[in-house]
Amino acid sequence: STMGASSAVRGSAQKLENADELIDSVETFIFDCDGVIWKGDSLIDGVPETLDMLRSKGKRLVFVTNNSTKSRKQYGKKFETLGLSVGEEEIFASSFAAAAYLKSIDFPKDKKVYVIGEDGILKELELAGFQYLGGPADGEKKIELKPGFYMEHDENVGAVVVGFDRYFNYYKVQYGTLCIRENPGCLFIATNRDAVTHLTDAQEWAGGGSMVGSLCGSTQREPIVVGKPSTFMMDYLSNKFGILKSQICMVGDRLDTDILFGQNGGCKTLLVLSGVTTLQMLQSPNNSIQPDLYTNKISDFVTLKAA
Ligand code: PLP
Ligand code: CA
Repeated sequence: STMGASSAVRGSAQKLENADELIDSVETFIFDCDGVIWKGDSLIDGVPETLDMLRSKGKRLVFVTNNSTKSRKQYGKKFETLGLSVGEEEIFASSFAAAAYLKSIDFPKDKKVYVIGEDGILKELELAGFQYLGGPADGEKKIELKPGFYMEHDENVGAVVVGFDRYFNYYKVQYGTLCIRENPGCLFIATNRDAVTHLTDAQEWAGGGSMVGSLCGSTQREPIVVGKPSTFMMDYLSNKFGILKSQICMVGDRLDTDILFGQNGGCKTLLVLSGVTTLQMLQSPNNSIQPDLYTNKISDFVTLKAA
């Protein structure tokens, strides 16, 4: 259950025309966050009304993000700051997914996790009761290559978790590599492999996939991916809430993470054009990922009624 297999050939995405029909056809909406709910720190138009309407119709709402820099609790604050009432238990970030994955395999509590990533991952590991080392603090560490220098590493590290890390450096690469290569059975876990992120709207920035790729290069291993588009989180959600995957609509702005995540999970998929994907990208002959439906933004749920 790492990266999903390619999906069957599908027809082209249809433009959403009758929102009520879609809403009535599922019990649960899984929303990607960046590009669907917010863009960076600003709320996308019409989101509060749309979420309120879906809740009033009794729909279950779940929020999933590949951004591992925050914990569920920290995302809860972000939703609150944006004026949205979303509970921590409705939020599934890839930071939480890493901890949930370790729990799901009964990762031993006497083993340690080495973290290449930011605070969100540390917070989730701590909440789940796992011992960890690394994180942003190791961003200060430098290697002085004196003759004969030998880097020690903790033999009790049984998993290396790699996520997006703005404090990434060579010390972390070497430490993580030593753990993965030399500790018997050490797991290599990636929160996500997004190629790019939109830290600012001025350009695309290297995403979590860049840190993961570095460790792939040095270890010659492939990671277990716990974020989108891997099926881990979808399986976790459908078990946790007891929802059939056919009763879920996955809503996202990205084809290779969100839409693939929904398709790998056997869900309905809706692409919104309020994030990184344009209609031209969707319809390009180079794109092979076709959602069931597409629309401009989720507030179309409120405005698009049957003719
Ligand atoms: N990873 C990082 C570091 C990000 O900044 C973002 C978006 O802001 C993402 C991943 C993608 O987030 P999402 O899955 O909510 O679109
Ligand atoms: Ca997104």
